[in-house]
Amino acid sequence: MITAVNRPAALHINLAAIKENTRQAKAHLKPGQKLFCVVKANAYGHGAARLAPVMEEAGADGFCVAMLDEGLELRRAQIVKPILVLGLQPAEEAALAAANDISLPVSSLDWLKEAEKVLRKEGLQLKIHLAIDSGMGRIGFSEDEDFKAVNEYLQGNDAFFVEGMFTHFASADSADASYFDYQVKRFKHMESLLTVKPKWIHVDNTAASLFDKDVASDIVRFGIGLYGLNPSSAPGSQDLEPAFALKPAMSFVSELTYVKQIHKGYGVGYGSTHIAEEDEWIGTVPVGYADGWIRKFQGFKVKVGDTYCPIVGRVCMDQFMVLLPKKVPAGTPVELISADPAAPNSLRRAADWLDTIHYEVACQFNDRLDRIYDNE
Ligand SMILES: *Cc1c(COP(=O)(O)O)cnc(C)c1O
Repeated sequence: MITAVNRPAALHINLAAIKENTRQAKAHLKPGQKLFCVVKANAYGHGAARLAPVMEEAGADGFCVAMLDEGLELRRAQIVKPILVLGLQPAEEAALAAANDISLPVSSLDWLKEAEKVLRKEGLQLKIHLAIDSGMGRIGFSEDEDFKAVNEYLQGNDAFFVEGMFTHFASADSADASYFDYQVKRFKHMESLLTVKPKWIHVDNTAASLFDKDVASDIVRFGIGLYGLNPSSAPGSQDLEPAFALKPAMSFVSELTYVKQIHKGYGVGYGSTHIAEEDEWIGTVPVGYADGWIRKFQGFKVKVGDTYCPIVGRVCMDQFMVLLPKKVPAGTPVELISADPAAPNSLRRAADWLDTIHYEVACQFNDRLDRIYDNE
C-alpha cells in the first residue's frame, strides 16, 4: 500500500506523550521488574519502527510483537534489546528467529520436535517462552501431562534456551477479580510442575500493572498504556482509574477540500441517506473507509475549526461529508480524532461510537495514511 503523503490527511503521533507514558510505566514497575513494550500491529497503528527507539530511550528493556516479521522489522530498525513474539509461528521459522535472536512462544511438544530438527541443521539455539493457557482459551499448555512431557524433553536439550514462561489474562481490566484469581492459581499450578527454570516468569499486561494486581511478574508486557489509552475501555463502561495519568499520542487531522450550499430536498452521499431539510452548508473531507475511517462513523461528530459537526450521508471510500452550521472556507482544519482524552472525538469516544474498543480503532487506520511524528 502506498502511503499518501501529498494529501491533507494524516495521523499525528505525539512523541512526547509516548516518552512520558513509557517513563511512567517504567517508574511504576515493582522492584526488579522489566518493561517489555508491546509494539505489535505496527505499535497499535502508531508506527513500530519509529517508536521502538523512542521507547528504548525512555526505559524499555525489551519488546513484544505478535509475529516474526514484526520482530524482524525491529531488528532492521537497529533494535538490539530482547524481542519476544507472542503468537505461534510455524516451526520451520525457528531458525530465522534464532538467527535474529528473536524469542518464540511454545505451545506443544510436536512444535518443539519440528523446531529442533530445523535448529540442529543450522547449529542454532532458540530462546523460547513456554505459553500457558490459564483461562484465556487461546494458546498455551493447559494439561499437566503435556506440560510434564515438555519439561522432560527440554532437560539438557541445548537446541533451546528456556527464557520464559508466561500466561495472558482475560480480564485484568475488570473490577471483578474472581476470574483473574482463578487464572493466577492455574498458572502457579503449571509453574509447580516445572523443573526446568525459566529466566523470566511473566503474566502482567498493561491492565495488571496499571490496576496494581497483586501477582508476581518478572516482565510487564505493557501495550495499550504506552499509547496513552486506558485498557479498561469496554464500550459505554466506566473506566477503572489507572495508577498514573495516561497521555493519548494519536490524533487524526485533515481539512475541508470543498464547501457548498445545498437546498431543501437535496441528497448527500450514496443512497442519499441524508436529505436537506432546509438550506444547508456541506463540507467534504478527503478521508474514507479505505483509510480505515469506516462507514459506521456516519453520524459521529468531528471538529471543523472550533465546531463539532456530524458526518452526514454514508462515508465513501475516500471522502465523507459533514453538516456545517454556516459557511466556512475550504481548507478549514478538520480534527477527526483528538489526543485530548476529554474531547468528544477522542479515540475512546470514537470506539464507543463504533461499539468497540480503542485498541481496534487505532489499529484499523491503515498505511495509506501518513504518520507524522511531533515533539521529538
Ligand atoms: C497484546 C498483548 C499484551 C499487551 O496487552 P495490553 O492490554 O495492550 O497491555 C500482553 N501480552 C500478550 C500475550 C498480548 O497478546
